[in-house]
Amino acid sequence: MKLNNQKKFLLNLLFKGKVTRKQLENILKITPSTLSYLLTNLKKKDLITVSHNKTEKAGRPKQIIKMNKNFWKSLGIRIGRETISLTVFNGDFEEEEKISMKLTKNEMGNENISLMLEKIIKKVSSLDKIKAVGIALSGNVKKGKVNSKILNLENFSPSTIVKSILPNATVSVLNDVEAISTEEFVKHGGKKILVVNYGTGIGACFYESHGIYEKSERKVIELGHFYAGSKEKCYCGAFGCLETVASDYANLKRFKFYNLKIEEFISNEEIYDNDLAELRNLYKINEKEAKKIYETTFEYLAIFLTNIFRLLAPEKIILSGEGVSKWFSQVLERKILSISSVAVPITYRGLKNNIEFGAALDAIREYILSSKF
Ligand SMILES: [Zn+2]
Repeated sequence: MKLNNQKKFLLNLLFKGKVTRKQLENILKITPSTLSYLLTNLKKKDLITVSHNKTEKAGRPKQIIKMNKNFWKSLGIRIGRETISLTVFNGDFEEEEKISMKLTKNEMGNENISLMLEKIIKKVSSLDKIKAVGIALSGNVKKGKVNSKILNLENFSPSTIVKSILPNATVSVLNDVEAISTEEFVKHGGKKILVVNYGTGIGACFYESHGIYEKSERKVIELGHFYAGSKEKCYCGAFGCLETVASDYANLKRFKFYNLKIEEFISNEEIYDNDLAELRNLYKINEKEAKKIYETTFEYLAIFLTNIFRLLAPEKIILSGEGVSKWFSQVLERKILSISSVAVPITYRGLKNNIEFGAALDAIREYILSSKF
């Protein structure tokens, strides 16, 4: 894709937050006068703000360029099994408004989720300023259509609902792990990364970096449904998926519920909330017991992650999700080290990720790429 300087300019602001004139001249390889022309143009359209940093003693004050926080408003929405939540972000990605609504088991399915999505968007106090909407869901997303066993969605198209309320907004539909990895991709300055989201499910997303100007460089890896050789039938329809032997479902089974089946677990997950919390904190009170329960899981994860690492060669593997802790990632890293001759760099991120932020960020990036400025 051939991008003009204005778009490149804006993408750099999006990834870096703020930049100086000098930095922009170097990144875009343009002369000071071309930059001045660009700055005037973008300022006239209200897309950016320029401030002067007066703390510098010697020489001229530095000009700091940022996105205009009143122009770049976006919505990040997350639809999960238990809640639908929405955050309004400004151009500095500060949270301006947060709304959350509970979802019950009876509110799953295309029709119900559509109604809830409509309801939550209409609660936003100033919709007229919204430029882009990012929606992240637990499920399979292809060309804006969502299929999800967990949310009971079939060829669900969230953008149709958003467009009926906000016809001019750019809409981006992503899977949870894609949203998390978008945030990580930006945080790591556009490096090649693999994000693994671990909990009762196991998802992954690979960001193949071609720099920040290229569009489609991420790939969702359905790690949880890779064949791991067990005999159990998975809720996806296949047999022997990794989730049946190495997810928090499998750990929970080894912990307390020996006869549990994955399909039964997925459709009644909320019953096990307390047991899951107990399991995930077990290492704090009885590390030996925790190690025993997680042993098989670590073995499987070590094998799968080492192989994926060899295949894709990311600069980092980032572990996120409800099922991981610092302890979890350290034991896993040691396990990998014990079987592999290549060092696999693992970064623990846990639950620090904000899926709504990642979704909104993705939508704004999409908006910059597709708009005519
Ligand atoms: Zn499966």
